[in-house]
Amino acid sequence: MLPFARLTIMGLGLIGSSIARAVKANMPAVRITGYDADSEVRARAIALGICDDVTDTPGAAVIDADLVILCVPVGAMGGVAEEFAADLPAGAVVSDVGSCKQSVADALTAVLPGAIIIPAHPVAGTEKSGPDAGFATLFKGRWCILTPADNAPEASVEALRTFWQRLGAEIEVMDARHHDMVLAITSHLPHLIAYTIVGTADDLQGVTQSEVIKYSAGGFRDFTRIAASDPVMWRDVFLSNKDAVLEMLQRFSEDLSALQRAIRYDKGDQLEALFTRTRNIRRSIVEQGQDDDAPDFGRKH
Ligand code: NAP
Repeated sequence: MLPFARLTIMGLGLIGSSIARAVKANMPAVRITGYDADSEVRARAIALGICDDVTDTPGAAVIDADLVILCVPVGAMGGVAEEFAADLPAGAVVSDVGSCKQSVADALTAVLPGAIIIPAHPVAGTEKSGPDAGFATLFKGRWCILTPADNAPEASVEALRTFWQRLGAEIEVMDARHHDMVLAITSHLPHLIAYTIVGTADDLQGVTQSEVIKYSAGGFRDFTRIAASDPVMWRDVFLSNKDAVLEMLQRFSEDLSALQRAIRYDKGDQLEALFTRTRNIRRSIVEQGQDDDAPDFGRKH
């Protein structure tokens, strides 16, 4: 049985278009309606045939939906929800895919009083944006974290769980604030570090940009993949998950200072102990199927 029959996707970029493709592949009987603020994206979604219908307004998109998923930058969630609030059918489940959960839950609750709101975050993505970047298998074997409020109807939470499982995802349910703390260290801080390193290299006097690019295989290019991620999406993530990111940044700065001291005072044992511990983390990620074991991320040489 289908968990939902009429899906509306707000925002047809990388994640929204991937959901549409994955639903077409795994639950073809579900009717998909799409909306995007950008008319070129709407036209592209029609050309790609990823939705059954693409509307020109958010209200028209939700009119008969039983599940609405918001796939816009986290700072835009409340505004989009406000635009369709008057047309949302009673009993429809409203969810999202935002990378921060507490701020989105607060924004949606404020503009959709009485609605069934179940925030979610598929921990899957790439550095690309837009409807052409999506693909049907993006969520396969990846985690999708649901952060329902205490009063969310259990049947709706279960239906959303089934929906994501049908797209290939594994499900975890957790508190929104805990989600934001976990993702601050596993996703948000790594992006901040990548943006910083790439920015610092770009600013370096005495090392030319052509040298940075020429010798990037030394490790730099792995940071550039993350630092190529969507600027608007990541601006919103840092502003929306400010407290958790600042807390993790503080810890990171202290650990960095400790490493700085270890290098200055030739504490090789300390460096080696840390590097051995971190290598084991990489092994665990591979063992749990969250990355491939191929050397150099499977690049062809
Ligand atoms: P994306 O490819 O840039 O797509 C977002 C789409 O939403 C764009 O087409 C954008 O149009 C549209 N949009 C922006 N504001 C809107 C509004 N007010 N109303 C309707 N449409 C609007 O971004 P994405 O990577 O799919 O990210 C979408 C969400 O997924 C974000 O909340 C992000 O935190 C979350 N997420 C991303 C990843 C990832 O790796 N990328 C992973 C997990 C979760 P414009 O062309 O006008 O900007």
